[in-house]
Amino acid sequence: MLSDIKVEAPPYRELSPWRLWRDGSRQQKACLFGGWLALLVLCIALGVGMVVWRWSGIPLEFGGVTIYLTVYPPLLICMLLTLTLGWWWGAIPAYCATFSLAIYAGMPVPWAMLFAFSNPLGFAIMVIGYQAIAMRRDLRGLNPLLFYVQLAFIASVFGSSGALIWSYTNHYEPAALLPIWQGWWLGAFLQSVLIAGPAMALVWPWVDRWMAAHPQLMRDTFTSSRQSILGLLASVTLGVLIYGFVTIQLAERQIDLASLVHALGVLRQTMWIFYWVFAVIVVFMAFFGYELFVHWQQSQDRLLAELHRANDDLQKLATTDALTGLLNRRAADRRLSAEWQRARRLRHGAAMVLLDIDHFKEINDRYGHPAGDAALRQLACVIQSVMREMDFAARYGGEEFLIVLPETGELGAHAFAERLREEVAASPVQHEDARFHMHISLGVAVALDEEANYERWFTRADRALYRAKQGGRNRTELAA
Ligand code: GH3
Ligand code: MG
Ligand code: MG
Repeated sequence: MLSDIKVEAPPYRELSPWRLWRDGSRQQKACLFGGWLALLVLCIALGVGMVVWRWSGIPLEFGGVTIYLTVYPPLLICMLLTLTLGWWWGAIPAYCATFSLAIYAGMPVPWAMLFAFSNPLGFAIMVIGYQAIAMRRDLRGLNPLLFYVQLAFIASVFGSSGALIWSYTNHYEPAALLPIWQGWWLGAFLQSVLIAGPAMALVWPWVDRWMAAHPQLMRDTFTSSRQSILGLLASVTLGVLIYGFVTIQLAERQIDLASLVHALGVLRQTMWIFYWVFAVIVVFMAFFGYELFVHWQQSQDRLLAELHRANDDLQKLATTDALTGLLNRRAADRRLSAEWQRARRLRHGAAMVLLDIDHFKEINDRYGHPAGDAALRQLACVIQSVMREMDFAARYGGEEFLIVLPETGELGAHAFAERLREEVAASPVQHEDARFHMHISLGVAVALDEEANYERWFTRADRALYRAKQGGRNRTELAA
């Protein structure tokens, strides 16, 4: 199941100006803040320059209507800043450039303040998109490319809201509004896809590596992906509704009976633009829905795999003894009960060996508790080396062990116990500088048909062990 999980893009990261200021090296601060300030000045200069040189874009003929495809270099620079470093890094220069341009062009200050928000608004949509779905931004692959194109498209539609303010404050006639607006977002969209996109494909791997290597400079993004997804869906829906409403309003205003032929052309052109905008948005929704599904399924799969792993760990923790790796008492009781029932039903007999280290307190006292632990571990190893595959052993108490031997009679069990006792006595325990021998006493009991439960079986083995201790230790006793 784990192998099914695709390697995913890392979650959304952005450079924190505050952390850069506090934790960044001198060189990092100089490069990033210096470079950003230079770009900010450049954006303002380019923005004002566009008014000075009266550059309104590239004219395009559309069904008898001329659309001025807006080309706005600050948009490109700021979009790249947003996509690489984060929203604030792109939004501030975009705001400053557009605001200066508007003031220089004579727009009233309150309108200019509102007008300057248009591009930061478009960038916000892109950022929310990348927060909602972790997607590489190198556009080298169908999914990152499709995602980027669709985000760029929606961001352009949002960013073009400025065109309405521009036309309104410049007192353009209503008929001029629609072509200006459409040219505005189309221009922004084409710039994003044809220039900013390839630029991201080039720089993103490098930026991504740099960000991964400097986690201390990244901003903590608290928004959960669910919140981002809801935010994106809500804003796209709102954008579509506003876009549709304004387009219809503007198109209606253009229909003037005096020039019906012209009006018809405008209507046709409007309808087609409208159609394409909605087509792309529908595709976006479908794509986004699919991505969301895959994303959630993957996180579900990951969660499930983690749960399985945690369950396995828990199961192991609940049934094994941490010091020796043998079964613990709980698991031993369960296995013992099962073995007892099996032995009775199949009538093939079973034997139990209960053993206890002799004078273990002395070992602890003389060599220390860690040496005692080493002795317990070694005893477990010796038990495992002597017992068969079908047998099972457990640490039943502090230094008391239980071994169950299925399909074994009294003679076989006794022989096993003696072999184990000799093996333990012959294996010295080595812990740091200490080296010592230990001995064990053992009680052996075979399961009896007439016994009412496995506890009785255990009690007989325990009594045999007690007799072994009483009889002088380092010996095996058979249960009555
Ligand atoms: P006897 O021959 O009668 O069994 O003497 P003994 O000293 O072994 O006596 P007893 O069985 O009562 O002692 C058990 C000792 O085992 C007491 C306790 O300190 C020690 N012990 C129990 N669990 C651990 C453990 O996990 N590590 C270590 N090092 N000692 C343990
Ligand atoms: Mg003991
Ligand atoms: Mg004991």
